[in-house]
Amino acid sequence: MFELSEEQKLIQKSIHQFAEKELAPQASHWDATEEFPWENVKKMAEVGLIGLRLPKIYGGSESDLVTTGIALEEVARFDHNCAIILCGSNITGRVLLCGSEKIKAKFLPEIAKGKYILAFGAAEPDAGSDLRAIKAIAKPRKDAWIVSGEKAMVTFAGVAHGFIVLVRTAMGREEGISCIFIERDRQGIDIQRLQGFGWRASQWGNVSFNEVKVPIQNLIGEKYNALSMLKTTVQEQRALTGLIALGTAREALDEAIKYAKIRKVFGKPLGKFEGIQFRLAEDHTSLEAARLLCYQALSLIGKKSYNASVWAAMANLIGGETAYRVVNNAMDVYGGLGYSRELPFERHLRDVKAMQIANATLKIEIGKGLFGKEFLPYT
Ligand SMILES: Cc1cc2nc3c(=O)[nH]c(=O)nc-3n(C[C@H](O)[C@H](O)[C@H](O)COP(=O)(O)OP(=O)(O)OC[C@H]3O[C@@H](n4cnc5c(N)ncnc54)[C@H](O)[C@@H]3O)c2cc1C
Repeated sequence: MFELSEEQKLIQKSIHQFAEKELAPQASHWDATEEFPWENVKKMAEVGLIGLRLPKIYGGSESDLVTTGIALEEVARFDHNCAIILCGSNITGRVLLCGSEKIKAKFLPEIAKGKYILAFGAAEPDAGSDLRAIKAIAKPRKDAWIVSGEKAMVTFAGVAHGFIVLVRTAMGREEGISCIFIERDRQGIDIQRLQGFGWRASQWGNVSFNEVKVPIQNLIGEKYNALSMLKTTVQEQRALTGLIALGTAREALDEAIKYAKIRKVFGKPLGKFEGIQFRLAEDHTSLEAARLLCYQALSLIGKKSYNASVWAAMANLIGGETAYRVVNNAMDVYGGLGYSRELPFERHLRDVKAMQIANATLKIEIGKGLFGKEFLPYT
């Protein structure tokens, strides 16, 4: 049976208290202004959250995946955008671990301190779910790569100090895709901000690379091998993102339960009506079931289990679907007030909606596990 250790419970409690005190009061401010919450990044770095998954020699704390999940879940209760930043820093930081010693020594400590934001550019205007269709290209020229192409919908685009970008290094299928690190201050990079439905503090945007010259040593991992190199990182990101959605939903559900105990309709508290009580009971049940699935996925990924990819996809799928339903129901419990911007439910709903966008790729991954590759209708 899955149970948090005493140490993990203490960590959970201290991150809960930190996020409630330090992050919650300003969460709606960052959403409304769409500014990047630098001061919260600093606070999170000071308590060691930014470099959770990074090695100690680079200033990280080498936490295991389950502990990282606990941290992201608690932060997401109080500020969804901050949890996205934590997840992003840890995931891109781990990709950079496959880079050269010089790159690791220079950039990882800065990432752990919250001073260097790294964005990840995979999707393109004509390649989202099907990453094999990407067109961005890195051409070798003497001691450099010349990178051209457009990356779409990149989280942190507006504030990133650097990008990890998937590029084609040979014309072929996935065997031709490589991963390259590009510092923001190189010539030929253009950012166009996008206005998102949620994740409004995440400085979302499109990034164009116009013949950007990048040192040959900036290739991350082996040439042509990006998709297989990123496999575990993608699994981690999927399961952790499921927990982020559920953390936000947990907060919404707890608030709805509190409100149902005090709001009176027809002379009684809302919570005395089974129509409300049963719905919240169902939401609590599905939320706890989804959380367990996410932690099981993290545990399997940590053990490099053969079916970790399927569990990671299931965690992300159930996390996003459950969170959206739970937040939507919590909003309903508050009636008209729930719809107002005075309360955080509309923000929570916009934020957790992001988790449902890439559902097709998750179902493809789960389908692959159930049926085998030969049942995928893609050539
Ligand atoms: C908030 C947010 C942040 C993001 N951040 C990043 C980032 O940092 N870096 C990055 O690279 N990308 C990022 N993305 C982009 C994201 O990766 C893509 O949106 C996602 O992969 C889907 O690609 P697409 O939008 O091109 O949709 P498409 O691939 O065009 O798909 C359109 C719709 O069809 C569905 N679909 C696709 N294939 C199938 C199929 N075979 N069968 C049935 N349905 C299918 C999809 O689920 C989707 O609903 C972000 C997106 C969002 C919303």
